[in-house]
Amino acid sequence: DIEIPESHPRYESLLTRHRIEVGVEKGITSRQGLIAQGRGEAFDYLLGEQTIPSADEAARAAAAHLLLADHPVVSVNGNVAALCPEEIVELAEATDADIEVNLFNRTDERMQTIVDHLREHGADEVKGLTADGRIPGIDHERAKVDADGIGSADVVVVPLEDGDRAAALGEMEKIEIVVDLNPMSRSARVATVPIVDNIVRAVPNVTGHARDLQGAARDELETIVADFDADEALEAAERAIRTGGE
Ligand code: ATP
Ligand code: MG
Repeated sequence: DIEIPESHPRYESLLTRHRIEVGVEKGITSRQGLIAQGRGEAFDYLLGEQTIPSADEAARAAAAHLLLADHPVVSVNGNVAALCPEEIVELAEATDADIEVNLFNRTDERMQTIVDHLREHGADEVKGLTADGRIPGIDHERAKVDADGIGSADVVVVPLEDGDRAAALGEMEKIEIVVDLNPMSRSARVATVPIVDNIVRAVPNVTGHARDLQGAARDELETIVADFDADEALEAAERAIRTGGE
């Protein structure tokens, strides 16, 4: 294990990087996941490594969508599993969502390692191993989902989803909540609700909003959803990047 002094100005960032390294060692995160992390870090640096107000609003809209959903599913890949497994379990509990493992580079071994890892962090049922459903319009391996999971979800949370699959999920008429630090990425641009924030901050933030809104009436939730403007949120994130975080 490494020692990072808490006084280090980039403590959180170094800790996050270390979690990804451990994820790779344990066979949870792919080597491509390291590169994705590097891209994310660059954008997070430009955002001032903070949750900007527009990302907080997006997190609240995401929570409202999840509470309104009939069948919400939180998708987990190798980076998400390494960075915030407990927080994913808490989000699923707070919103009554299923958890499904969904990998860009799918191997049976890595699927099982991630399922076990999530169970160790408190998950009850983890979907993804059945793979009896398909996302239309993308190639075979990457199209695999569980028919009773993402396949039949009305609202999906896809943190760090790749652009192609995010677009294909959108075409399935699902409400798509994307967490991605790059407001220019295709994933963020096709989302119903793009949350431009680091997943280590965004996931607990959505959970907090969901707990906050737990007792809210349907029409209050529907107003929050209707008032959210995805294009405006992406523009606000771009502005924040240009000005070093608002
Ligand atoms: P596009 O969406 O334009 O097709 P891509 O999906 O091919 O791009 P990748 O490098 O696969 O690009 O995606 C990694 C994405 O995940 C980047 O946009 C990066 O900003 C984002 N990302 C990486 N780590 C995190 C993190 N910890 N929190 C939030 N987003 C992250
Ligand atoms: Mg992307």
